[in-house]
Amino acid sequence: MFTPEIIAQFKNTPTPFYHYNLKVLEQTLAALKSEADRFNYHVHYALKANSNSIILKTIRQFGFGADCVSGNEILKAVECGYENSKIAFAGVGKSDYEINIGLDNDIFCFNCESLPEIEVINELAEKKNKIAQIALRINPNVNAKTHHYITTGLEENKFGINMWELESVVEALKGFNNIKLVGLHFHIGSQITDLSVFKGLCIRVNEIQDWFISRNIIVEHINVGGGLGVDYENPNSNLIPDFKSYFGLFNQFLNLQPNQQLHFELGRAIVAQCGNLISKVLYIKKGVNTNFAIVDAGMTELLRPALYQATHKIENLSSTAPTQKYDVVGPVCESSDCFGKAIDLPETKRGDLFAIRTAGAYGEVMANGYNLRVLNKEVFS
Ligand SMILES: *Cc1c(COP(=O)(O)O)cnc(C)c1O
Repeated sequence: MFTPEIIAQFKNTPTPFYHYNLKVLEQTLAALKSEADRFNYHVHYALKANSNSIILKTIRQFGFGADCVSGNEILKAVECGYENSKIAFAGVGKSDYEINIGLDNDIFCFNCESLPEIEVINELAEKKNKIAQIALRINPNVNAKTHHYITTGLEENKFGINMWELESVVEALKGFNNIKLVGLHFHIGSQITDLSVFKGLCIRVNEIQDWFISRNIIVEHINVGGGLGVDYENPNSNLIPDFKSYFGLFNQFLNLQPNQQLHFELGRAIVAQCGNLISKVLYIKKGVNTNFAIVDAGMTELLRPALYQATHKIENLSSTAPTQKYDVVGPVCESSDCFGKAIDLPETKRGDLFAIRTAGAYGEVMANGYNLRVLNKEVFS
């Protein structure tokens, strides 16, 4: 990942900044494409994981669609060349402004999460004399076995339409003249590493399809969302996610109807491993149990540790000395501004460069200006 030339380039760049390795991204996309093509599966990239224009254009070049969760993401996808007919729009709280963006751009599908939302889409589509294609986002009540903040497919979550509401929703659809039901959508959570969870999802989707088929409804597509996890502990041994097993599982366990398409919305699995947050050590401070390595990046640049208790592998790019234990912390005035406790790192000194690995997804997009901090421009290699 880090050749001497790349490290030399880092030394001349103001820190902290995000580094993206486009070769890793392209290798990931090539693997994803060949595995998805085996089954003719359709993949939409979930923009919210990383909406950097160069990354978006690289992904688009492989022919993938886009999965957006805001009106501005739709505009960005269109601007970066994604085909309108491959843009899906999800989210529990789509505003009228955002729905109109979707309608004006004739997107592939609105993934709808409640009856009141469908009513509004119908009304706005009628005003424009258009037919909006929609999928019902159904809450399958499947436990993703991931952090509770990124679990979305349980009945207690705010996402999707619950099974007991389906009958009334399907009945109400008959009264909407500017809505066309084209799909069923599911997304149960993120950073799912236990693949058996997806087998459970398939079984549940089959049952839900049967419910629709018994009412003579056969939709054009099933969308099983995203959520495939990545290896944060050992990025080097698992740079490319296991797309083969992932798609193989759906092929084995999901019963598609004749000519029915299967869609996926992957975010993290596509972009996580190509990104690193590069930071400089400001001070080594003696602590009670371990020493602190205080770095110039914090929760303002990478929020995941503070938000989800996530851990990222940390490498010292400037030292090969014997290891010591460090708490790696940022400069922000919050105790949760900590990248790792009692981590073994080569003996570290002021000025050393750290790479915080696997930071391509939900990293730069969540950077914020707390403490009036400003992120530096990204570096590509
Ligand atoms: C966030 C999100 C995704 C992508 O999730 P990943 O875990 O990054 O693959 C897909 N679909 C929807 C509806 C989402 O909200």
